[in-house]
Amino acid sequence: MIPQRKPSGRLILSWRSDWTSKRQLPSRKINMADGVNALPFFYGNITREEAEDYLRQTGLSNGLYLLRQSRNYLGGFALSVSNAGRIYHYTIERNPNETYAIAGGKSHRSPMDVIDYHSQEMDGLICLLKKPCNRPKNMQPKVGPFEDLKEKLIREYVKQTWNLQGAALEQAIISQRPQLEKLIATTAHERMPWFHGGITREDSESRLQCGPRMSGKFLIRQRDENGSYALCLLHEGQVMHYRIDRDRQNKLSIPDGKKFDTLWQLVEHYSYKSDGLLRVLTEPSPRPDGETVRIGRPLPPLGSPGISNAIQTAADGIMSMFKSHSILKRKKDPDNLNPYETRMAGNQAISKEAMPMDTEVYESPYADPDELRSSTVDRSQLFLEDGELGSGNFGTVMKGVYKMRKTEKPVAVKILKNDDNNPAIREEMLREANVMQQLDNPYIVRMIGICEAENLMLVMELADLGPLNKFLQKNKQTNIKNITELVHQVSMGMKYLEEHNFVHRDLAARNVLLVTQHYAKISDFGLSKAVGEEQNYYKAKGHGKWPVKWYAPECINYFKFSSKSDVWSFGVLMWEAFSHGQKPYKGMKGNDVMQMIESGKRMDPPLNCPPEMSDLMKACWTYKVDERPAFRVVEPRLREYYYDIAAQ
Ligand code: ATP
Repeated sequence: MIPQRKPSGRLILSWRSDWTSKRQLPSRKINMADGVNALPFFYGNITREEAEDYLRQTGLSNGLYLLRQSRNYLGGFALSVSNAGRIYHYTIERNPNETYAIAGGKSHRSPMDVIDYHSQEMDGLICLLKKPCNRPKNMQPKVGPFEDLKEKLIREYVKQTWNLQGAALEQAIISQRPQLEKLIATTAHERMPWFHGGITREDSESRLQCGPRMSGKFLIRQRDENGSYALCLLHEGQVMHYRIDRDRQNKLSIPDGKKFDTLWQLVEHYSYKSDGLLRVLTEPSPRPDGETVRIGRPLPPLGSPGISNAIQTAADGIMSMFKSHSILKRKKDPDNLNPYETRMAGNQAISKEAMPMDTEVYESPYADPDELRSSTVDRSQLFLEDGELGSGNFGTVMKGVYKMRKTEKPVAVKILKNDDNNPAIREEMLREANVMQQLDNPYIVRMIGICEAENLMLVMELADLGPLNKFLQKNKQTNIKNITELVHQVSMGMKYLEEHNFVHRDLAARNVLLVTQHYAKISDFGLSKAVGEEQNYYKAKGHGKWPVKWYAPECINYFKFSSKSDVWSFGVLMWEAFSHGQKPYKGMKGNDVMQMIESGKRMDPPLNCPPEMSDLMKACWTYKVDERPAFRVVEPRLREYYYDIAAQ
């Protein structure tokens, strides 16, 4: 359970009761976006003036407040408060360490906690927050123009960049949404009709002076490679040039002006309010037909839309940008990187992290219709390399290359040792191959085929970074966001297994292999079973050499295995991951662990484990199968938490 916070000010009980009841739901941690949207005093993307109007209409009493979305900081909020007949606005910034604070103030876990705190402590605020100014009846929080388009843009981006469709497309969006949103937000300006790239000051003037010369016509040009721009504005026949500089925190502003995360937010702001400029921005100055913006790639010709449809035009432009990116897709040639790796926001690298879709193993090699699906691998096309990736009961795992019709795939080859005395191991390996062959999911190691040659060989996708537990032991600095991202991917793979009626039976951090630091795949299907839809569990004939510390009570007591017992194991896997690869129930024997579980005790959360995650682990360790959440519940809970902490 999340520890209860101190009761807060009487006057905000109306919304707190709603929030508190949601927090106490055992099955679902509220997502930041959901949580804020559910607050009756959250207005979404309204302007400062609109906020003031609402506060005035509600009486402007001392301590009356509302919350709105920040129009200049991505993921941030703004708090508007009235006191002594005046209205004050505070930005609630989202810090890189995933906390929220009013600039220079104390950090809190959520914007709601900021409000909660300031309802008891002024701590720099003009007054205590006393009374929420709730939205008028039937009014929903306002969605910004960019928000509206975001979904469409993300979908199109993924489709075009990685050439994905169907389930692969959906899975990519689910697992990488925070990164995709950021990418779209910070690069969208390049397709805006008002962005003219690196043209000269003189060129910008002649462009603004060309055609209709109404005041408010504007464009933005790039001044240098350090992320500095100029806003060029026509005012009474003259062109004014305002520098837009990027500060150390990467925020953009005109001198002494409001700071913004993105150029499109800046334009949005100055197109409703002059705020220090000679006038508001109205009409974007069109680029000459077919012009190439000097930031690297060709632009489609654009018309000269008014500011009202500028965003839609931008969206169309972005769509065509995606189309040109699709040529660059996927291959890990350093000169041919995915835009995510090379994109710059004003020459600030957004991130160097490759997304799962950038790797060779996101989609099945057989997703390409030119590669004939076959369960057998031709030995003459399989090349083994020196050095073992690992070993097990059956033999060894080697790295290799498999030459397919069109491509060469790096592969992992599980090689059965020649042991004529033990035909059971061969049977076991073929059973494992049979299960793997039926699975096709980005978060599960796929089998490419079986090769019967000098030995029986199982050819699989390569996950080069090895088992999750070992990786985390070696890389103790891996942060919570990264761990959550990986664990969420495992839950996506497990949800897929659950949907397809497969029980893994050996889910543990050692059996999650990493393709990159940001891409996990479930492996080792040696114990896995397909189960019926009706009788959705597998009943083992007897006790085997079992990973008892990962097993649910019903596995040990009744030999019953289901997706729900995999959920129990998943809880242990989460514990391993958040403890950076420590052994669960350290120093305890299997029997002691069973007794501990039967007595109702559970492992303590790992050091510094977020409460949302330790709550989820505990839910996975619910004794009664029927009350234990399924992966269809676990995955969205992890997703929400991941989006929450990864949004910045
Ligand atoms: P057992 O079937 O006896 O439980 P195991 O769990 O030890 O065997 P695997 O997990 O299948 O065997 O493989 C052993 C090791 O080989 C793994 O821990 C991992 O380091 C390496 N390995 C297995 N499959 C792959 C792969 N697809 N990509 C990269 N390395 C792999």
